[in-house]
Amino acid sequence: MQKISLETEFKFKQLTPFLTPYWGHFSAALLCMLVLAVTTGIYAYLVGPMIKFLFSGKNLVTAFPIIGSAIKLPFLDSLQNLDLIVLLPLFILVISIIKGLSYFGQFFIMGLIGQKVVVDLRRFFFAKLLLKPLAFFSRHPGGELVSRFTNDITQVEQAVTYAAATLFRDVLQIAVLLGVAFYLDFYLSLISFFLLPLAAVPLVKHASRLKRVSSSGQEQLAQIANRVREVFAGIKLVQLFGTYLYEEKRFDRLNKQYLSIMLRSFFLRAAISPLMEIIGALGLAGTIWYAGARIRNGELSPENFISFFATVMMLYQPIKTLGRLNNFIQPGMAAAGRLFSLLKETKNLPEPQEPQPVEFRQQIELRDATFAYQEKPVLQNLNLTIKKGESLALVGKSGAGKSTVADLLPRFYDLTCGSILIDGTDIRQTSLKKLRSLFSVVTQNPILFEDTVYNNINYGSWCENSSQVETAAKLAGAHDFIQALPQGYQTRLDENGSNLSGGERQRLCIARIILKKTAVMIFDEATANLDLENERLLQKSMDILAKEGTLLIIAHRQSTVRWANRIVVLADGKIVQQGTHQELLSQHGEYRRLYSEQLV
Ligand code: ADP
Repeated sequence: MQKISLETEFKFKQLTPFLTPYWGHFSAALLCMLVLAVTTGIYAYLVGPMIKFLFSGKNLVTAFPIIGSAIKLPFLDSLQNLDLIVLLPLFILVISIIKGLSYFGQFFIMGLIGQKVVVDLRRFFFAKLLLKPLAFFSRHPGGELVSRFTNDITQVEQAVTYAAATLFRDVLQIAVLLGVAFYLDFYLSLISFFLLPLAAVPLVKHASRLKRVSSSGQEQLAQIANRVREVFAGIKLVQLFGTYLYEEKRFDRLNKQYLSIMLRSFFLRAAISPLMEIIGALGLAGTIWYAGARIRNGELSPENFISFFATVMMLYQPIKTLGRLNNFIQPGMAAAGRLFSLLKETKNLPEPQEPQPVEFRQQIELRDATFAYQEKPVLQNLNLTIKKGESLALVGKSGAGKSTVADLLPRFYDLTCGSILIDGTDIRQTSLKKLRSLFSVVTQNPILFEDTVYNNINYGSWCENSSQVETAAKLAGAHDFIQALPQGYQTRLDENGSNLSGGERQRLCIARIILKKTAVMIFDEATANLDLENERLLQKSMDILAKEGTLLIIAHRQSTVRWANRIVVLADGKIVQQGTHQELLSQHGEYRRLYSEQLV
């Protein structure tokens, strides 16, 4: 099975058609995020004055100089006399309610966008995949497609919901908090956010050194393991030649190298925590020293310093979350790449610009039909005519190409060379929909859906009249067992009809095609898994169908094919014999050989 190439060049713009319908929602979420960031900023800003107020109990304007300027507005004059002890807790409450509501709003709206995008993506991919040619599905088995629909789409969802929400929310928060910090003290902020981080440079260098040492430790350990494996695999030689000491020495050398690497690694690891603490303390000491000097000079108020400190603390969380964001974005992008690469793979069958009508009044003709799945040819210059109303059986050893012929008629695959004509019209010149409406198929493994018996029979016919469904079931010999089911026709089938026997499942499929009444009905090894009793029942249905339309029967049982108007024997993709059962048996050919080997 060919693995699909992962992480193909996925462009974010491929997702934009899925995102644009929600720009209104997104704007609302962004507004909530902005409110959230501003209220967080206000919180941080208020910490210092609040502490000051609690200690000093002074009036509003002294506690909050920023309000002082606002109060100059005439209509806010009265505020000056308000009791701060009432106002302050009230203010905190109001801010926290606004903060909470905006958090709720942005979280919910981003979640809603994510979920809607996921639903749209699933619908889009499902609809696209329904049109893919069979070659695509043989390359991608069901399980793989299921995982594309579940895991990959979930990863895209996380990238859209979580990563996008975090990105915008945290960037806004960081921007507002930085703004507050700079407002509180420009120079202190400059030093704290641009100069002090330079102190972490040695830490980063240290970490990368540790990473290098750890990986060389891993390599060394792998060498030790290799040596152990090698020596014990060749233990006969070592013991016969008595090279114990030599091996011990060689082993010792590796062991000592490993030891020295590990000591170096522990040296570096032991240093990391104190180094971090010292650098942190250095930053703190530097800040306090500088802030202290500014406070002494009257350039910075103590409460502003406390607010500044609170702002720095509040910056920690969004910066940390932003740092981890890639863990969601990368897998999301890779998953989106896999999904979109699925669509690019295996082109849909080409359809004509101006499709010709197709009816099937006389014959279907395979003319010099040549076909290969990959390189290996399956059919070679096959010429076969199927007349309207006849029952044609295709027989031959397994792998002869019988099912391939059946799959080529409704264009599940296109011929490599040659043509298939219906009443003289090339099937590639008609619309796929019209062409396929001429065919129905009963396969070896019945195709049933997790739905009611009724809907399974009515699938694709969608008859309004329930008596037609029952008539079809009667003709297929299915009515009696359906009636015996707990809810009759309304009984729900388990996955693939596993609550029915093989014969019952097959009879439902027959009822389905009796109801659909297409021009051509294909039985592709339909009797292969059936016991004699069920085969007889199916045979009866085929007799009925043979009167109504054209039958193409692929089978390995002579009881299923002997009554056909014509039997065509295939071998290695070529027709080697054709005629009636009696005619073919009287000849010394492939059919007789198959018959004697009970292959037909
Ligand atoms: P039959 O129905 O006579 O048993 P098929 O038409 O199923 O034979 O297969 C003919 C040949 O084509 C076989 O060699 C088979 O392995 C190969 N084949 C069938 N289906 C596929 C496929 N989807 N991809 C590649 N090879 C296939």
